[in-house]
Amino acid sequence: MEKFDLETLVRPNILGLHPYSSARDEFTGNEGIFLDANENPFGQNNRYPDPHQRLLKKALSERKQIPVENIFIGNGSDEAIDLIYRIFCEPQRDRVIICPPTYGMYEVSANINNVEVIRVPLNDQFELDIDKMLSHRAQCIFVCSPNNPTGNRLQNIERLLREFHGIVVVDEAYIDFSSEGSFLEKLADYPNLIVMQTFSKAWGLAGARVGVAYASEAIIALMDKTKPPYNVSALNQAEALRALSNPLEFERQLAIILEQRAWLEKELKELAVVRHIYPSDANFLLVEVTDANAIYQYLVDKKVVVRNRHSVVRHCLRITVGTPEENRMVVKCLSEKVEDEESWRVGR
Ligand code: PMP
Repeated sequence: MEKFDLETLVRPNILGLHPYSSARDEFTGNEGIFLDANENPFGQNNRYPDPHQRLLKKALSERKQIPVENIFIGNGSDEAIDLIYRIFCEPQRDRVIICPPTYGMYEVSANINNVEVIRVPLNDQFELDIDKMLSHRAQCIFVCSPNNPTGNRLQNIERLLREFHGIVVVDEAYIDFSSEGSFLEKLADYPNLIVMQTFSKAWGLAGARVGVAYASEAIIALMDKTKPPYNVSALNQAEALRALSNPLEFERQLAIILEQRAWLEKELKELAVVRHIYPSDANFLLVEVTDANAIYQYLVDKKVVVRNRHSVVRHCLRITVGTPEENRMVVKCLSEKVEDEESWRVGR
């Protein structure tokens, strides 16, 4: 891309910010008598966590082959999204571009930060309308690939990275379920790129709240100085480290989910209530049905909870790929729904 001047995109209060210096910043050794942080000397989780998440960053760095200076760790990706607004968008002045239907937090977080949202919807192929996006002035763009809830990878993101004079955030929460590569490979080429990933999906740690952002050293330094010092608890850091130390288990679960995604797609296609299934690079299927509201409620009554996306993609339910047993259950319930309808039609 053309000359990129990061500082002009950063809010002046953040550029000039002197971050909080915690007790654990001043002394970093592991051994000693710690009387510096007003902790209780007794108990198990009595010490503050490492504010720089050094061990976790080192393990991620090895797995992803990305230097630690290019890694930010947050309390879920949602913290990274919020920080991006707080760093780059002046409330009541700056704008962000979002491409619905997509993950709802980009817009909610903009609203919380009082940042104006410009919506440039995906086209009917669920692809970006790049010309339209580039016709607007904004500080940031959020794109999600593979996209939630449509499940597809977006084309032409690189053109945005080249031609948009602001920050481009590529949310890759679902990247592990996709057969194509990650934008992490492009990090060195684009100083305006932030790639977000998370431990909540393929790594199976939604309960732990660990999100990751990868970007230039300068952007990561801004995120680090703006975050609360102890944003990721010691328990969460330990859980993420434990997951990373067991890559075979990660691969095992991933293989089952991918195999089950294909199975679920094949079985659902056969059902009379299903009109269309969109191709998915994620761990869910976007399924167009005859009557999304009625079928959603029917499933809830059977204690099967899917996500009703009718309000964002007409007639669609989003169904997460579960365990083989859970998937069999959802197919069984939906096939019974067909029978219900048929018996109703013939007046039985
Ligand atoms: N990005 C996308 C696209 C998501 O769908 C989700 C969760 N549904 C998240 C981010 C949230 O990630 P985290 O749990 O790390 O906050």
